[in-house]
Amino acid sequence: MMIGCSGFVSINLRELIDMKSIMIIADGIGGRPTDLDGKTCLQVAETPEIDDLLARRGTGGLMDPIDNGVRPGSDTAHLSLFGYDPYACYTGRGVFEAAGIGMDLTENDVCFRTNFATIDSSGNIADRRAGRISEGQDELEEALAGLKSEKFPEVEVRFKRSTEHRGALCLRGPELGGNVSPTDPHELDIPIPESSGQDKESEKTASVLNEVTRQAREILGDHPLNKRREEEGKLPANAILSRGSAKYPEIQSVEKKYEVTSSVIAAGALYIGVARVAGMEFKPVEGATGTVDSNILNKAKKAVSELENGKDMVFVHFKGADNASHDHDPEAKVKYIEKVDDTIGWLKKNLDWEGTHLSFAGDHSTPIQYGDHVADPVPAIIAGPNVRRDELKSFDEFSCMGGGLGRFSGNLLPMTLSYSNKLPKFGA
Ligand code: ZN
Ligand code: ZN
Repeated sequence: MMIGCSGFVSINLRELIDMKSIMIIADGIGGRPTDLDGKTCLQVAETPEIDDLLARRGTGGLMDPIDNGVRPGSDTAHLSLFGYDPYACYTGRGVFEAAGIGMDLTENDVCFRTNFATIDSSGNIADRRAGRISEGQDELEEALAGLKSEKFPEVEVRFKRSTEHRGALCLRGPELGGNVSPTDPHELDIPIPESSGQDKESEKTASVLNEVTRQAREILGDHPLNKRREEEGKLPANAILSRGSAKYPEIQSVEKKYEVTSSVIAAGALYIGVARVAGMEFKPVEGATGTVDSNILNKAKKAVSELENGKDMVFVHFKGADNASHDHDPEAKVKYIEKVDDTIGWLKKNLDWEGTHLSFAGDHSTPIQYGDHVADPVPAIIAGPNVRRDELKSFDEFSCMGGGLGRFSGNLLPMTLSYSNKLPKFGA
C-alpha cells in the first residue's frame, strides 16, 4: 500500500489471476443418524483431509440440491448444481444415457435407454436383461445398424450398446416428440407392449419405436450369436426394450452461460451424459469404474492436468458412496468416503491454492436404511483464496448446519465460478 501525494490511499492492484475452478460431487454422500450406531456414515468416516481443507481454506453449509422438499434424481440434481432449472429443461433420462455412452446428439434427437432382453417361444418377455449378457454385444450392435422406419424413412435410427445388457436408441428427424410410453413394461410373462405418444409428434416417435422394436426382434431372433447362446444354455438376447424416452433438452452450454471452458471426469454414463449435454468435454480416466472400486485418485490427477492444460473448470464425479447406500451397506460407504478423503488430500497438495476454488458436496443424501435418494440437504464446502472462511472444523451433515454458506439450493457451480471471478453479471 502506498500513500499517494494527493493524500488518498492508493493500492497497488495486483494483476487479477486467471483463476480455475473444480467442482467435486460425491454422489449420495449425505446420510441420516440412523446410518450406523446413531451417526451418519460421514460422521463415522475418518476425514482428516476434508476437515483440514474446510478449516484452513473453506466455508461450509447445507445444500438442497434442487429445492427443499424435493427428492432429487441424480440427473435433475446435477442440472441444478450446474445452475440450470431442471423444471424448465429436464426432458427425461434417455438423452443423458445416450450422450453418456458417446452418442453425438442434436436437438432433433429423441433417445431411449434400452435393454437387450429375452423373449420366449410364446412371445412373452422371459428376462429383461437377456441373462445379463456379457459378451457378443458388439456383434448385435452391428446387426442393428440397419434399423430403419419404412413409414417415416426420413427418421434416422441409431443403436449403441453400453455395459452388459444396456444400451441406447436414438431417433433423429423432424417433428419427433419425446412423450412416449416405454416398450419395457418392467414385467415378465407378457408380450412387449406397443408404445404410444401423448401428442401428435410423440405419436410419430412411438410409431417408429414400434416398427424398430419389431425389426430388432427379427434381426436378433435369427442372429447366429443367439443360436450359439441357446446351444450353450444361455438366454438369447433376441429383443430390445426401450424406456426413459427423452427429447434433446433446450439447454445453453456452460461455455455460453458462464463463458468458461470445461471438462467432465466421471465413469457413470448418466453423469457423463448430463455434463456432455451441458457442453463439458468428457475426459476418460484409466481405472474409473463408477463403483466403490474405482480409481478416483486417477480422476483427481486428470482434473489437475485438465486445469494445467488450460481448462477454466473441471467437474469431477465420484459414484461409490451412492452405490453403497443403495446396497444398504454402511461399512462400504464409510470406507469409500475415506478413499474420497485420501483423494482430497492429494488434491490439497497438488492444486495451486492461489488461483483455484474447489467445491465439494453430494448431489443428494442417500441414507443407508432407506436405500434411495431423499430430500434431506447435503453438506457442501467451497474452498479457496477468495472465500470468507468460517469456524467449521469438520465436514458432516451436523457441523455444516452452522457454516458460512448457510442453507442454499443448487447452483454450486456458478457459486464456485463466481469466487474464481468467472461468473457473468446479471443486469447492468
Ligand atoms: Zn446421485
Ligand atoms: Zn442413487
